[in-house]
Amino acid sequence: MFYHQHFDVIVVGGGHAGTEAALASARMGCSTLLLTHNLDTIGQMSCNPAIGGIGKGHLVKEIDALGGAMAKAIDKGGIQFRTLNASKGPAVRATRAQADRTLYRNAIRATVESQPNLTLFQQSCDDLIVENDRAVGVVTQMGLKFRAKTVVLTVGTFLGGTIHIGLENYKGGRAGDPPSIALAERLRALPFRVDRLKTGTPARLDIRSLNLQAMQEQPGDTPTPVFSFMGSRDDHPKQIPCYITHTNEKTHEIIRGGLDRSPMFTGVIEGVGPRYCPSIEDKIVRFADKTSHQIFVEPEGLNSMEVYPNGISTSLPFDVQVALIQSIKGFENAHIVRPGYAIEYDFFDPRDLKQTLETKFIQGLFFAGQINGTTGYEEAGAQGLIAGANAALQVMEKAPLQLRRDQAYMGVLIDDLATMGTKEPYRMFTSRAEYRLLLREDNADARLTELGRKIGLVDDERWSAFNAKAELVEKEMQRLRGQWVHPDHVAVGELNPLIKNPITREHSLEELIRRPELSYEKVTSIPSLGPSIADPAAAEQVEIQIKYAGYIARQLDEIAKTQRHENTLLPANFDYSTISGLSNEVVAKLTDARPETIGKASRISGITPAAISLLLVHLKKQG
Ligand code: FAD
Repeated sequence: MFYHQHFDVIVVGGGHAGTEAALASARMGCSTLLLTHNLDTIGQMSCNPAIGGIGKGHLVKEIDALGGAMAKAIDKGGIQFRTLNASKGPAVRATRAQADRTLYRNAIRATVESQPNLTLFQQSCDDLIVENDRAVGVVTQMGLKFRAKTVVLTVGTFLGGTIHIGLENYKGGRAGDPPSIALAERLRALPFRVDRLKTGTPARLDIRSLNLQAMQEQPGDTPTPVFSFMGSRDDHPKQIPCYITHTNEKTHEIIRGGLDRSPMFTGVIEGVGPRYCPSIEDKIVRFADKTSHQIFVEPEGLNSMEVYPNGISTSLPFDVQVALIQSIKGFENAHIVRPGYAIEYDFFDPRDLKQTLETKFIQGLFFAGQINGTTGYEEAGAQGLIAGANAALQVMEKAPLQLRRDQAYMGVLIDDLATMGTKEPYRMFTSRAEYRLLLREDNADARLTELGRKIGLVDDERWSAFNAKAELVEKEMQRLRGQWVHPDHVAVGELNPLIKNPITREHSLEELIRRPELSYEKVTSIPSLGPSIADPAAAEQVEIQIKYAGYIARQLDEIAKTQRHENTLLPANFDYSTISGLSNEVVAKLTDARPETIGKASRISGITPAAISLLLVHLKKQG
């Protein structure tokens, strides 16, 4: 039976990718169906209850700048906020928030339910309807057929999911949820390259059984950071601390003793796990000389007695989990409320995707989230938004949304996946971006909101707030460029004690702020030079634009140079071994990948700017 209504876009899966995809398409005016296993798990955090962190926080701000839901939801659900790398430069500063799982899920659910053009339906999607190599709908478990012009699949870790605890294993999409077996089989019959990955999660503990006094308390930052450009501290619920403890030699001994029953070390699990989020057994084996590993003890919510011990994800047998946990300081009497486990699942080689996240083999079918080989809510949300927007743009017969690497971490993420693929769960780091100083958390709105507005992702409220902030920054920059301090200015008496070289000639306020001993705040707190603008986010923009002007200009210059060579062609039969100066590794990688252009060559991991210069010199010589 066909459902009576036809949709523009169907999104399958109500996780982090699916909700952003469905919201994006609906915001753009397309009639959208969000079809998911269970409406009560919309926005569910499968693993750690936290949003953001280095690289990931940047993605959350970009999702927000494009009108997405994640940042606003964590502002409503965050119970401990911190700015990581606060003492470092603005490029690598990142916001992270511990979430109350329920508050976060409720906030996402409320956003989804209040979104016009968005219809929800609870059922498993078991099949796709494909006509003439074009996706035109889906079939649910009970045989109900939905028709649409485009379909976005965001089914996470559920495809062919197998859960492992020790040598026991069973089928599951994540703990407590069924796997997607029928859909996995259907997708395996299509021409996509499929492989297996794995990820894991730690046991959850009952906070009442822990000795928190024996651990180090870790409060959030004050003033509390805010995630959304539209958010405020008033959105935050009550803030509570996290705690820190450590594994010890006894813990490691227990883990080593359990390795013969570990699914990872006995070859039961074949999928590759996340290198940067390894299980505790993996850490003990890989870093055998380390005698201790840090554990962040993170409450799961204000009204929950569960805590998430971050850093000891494991799929060891349950008896080993109990012993290893009880060997840790503060956990001596710990009661496990949910065992840790690993999950293996199907993912699709993202090189079979276009940069729009539409599959190359089936038109109108888009993939986003964990099924593309990524790990993390933020990576999933970012892809979801781009896939949902592109599905909508295709329906509206408009030009696709493709973000460049110099424009957004989202651009880096999708370009990395589509051009290089991945052999292990891919997560975002600031080090993956070439132009970190431009792709800061603080300027995600300046980079993306106007673009989002043009394609219908950004509503009137955000647009007017964005313009008000931009105007404020611009006016203040003009004032700072136009206001001068002469050696006999009344402010000099207050300025000179702050600086190394006293003022002997005329300076604009902009020039003064650029001095290492001064800042926007210091200069504008001098009565005759202030006041500073009241909006702290706008004030931060002024400070960064002035302090980092030189570096930013250099990076813009580099981008212009790279763009000049982006489309320079590399001959298909190029013999890279004849180029003197290229290392054997670089020659092997280029020979293997055979990039069509200099732009594509520059994005292969391990291909350095120096190698690109040698290629360009060689091409020039060949004329
Ligand atoms: P999900 O959040 O998994 O959402 C998929 C959605 O699709 C679900 O709502 C599901 O019900 C629905 N669905 C699935 N199949 C169907 C179907 N056939 N029909 C209808 N609906 C369907 N990330 C980290 O960053 N660090 C970690 O340490 C980490 N560890 C993890 C450990 C475990 C055990 C798991 C399960 C995940 C872990 N993750 C971790 C990953 C993180 O949970 C995911 O990256 C993120 O949730 C992916 O979002 P998604 O939207 O792609 O998929």
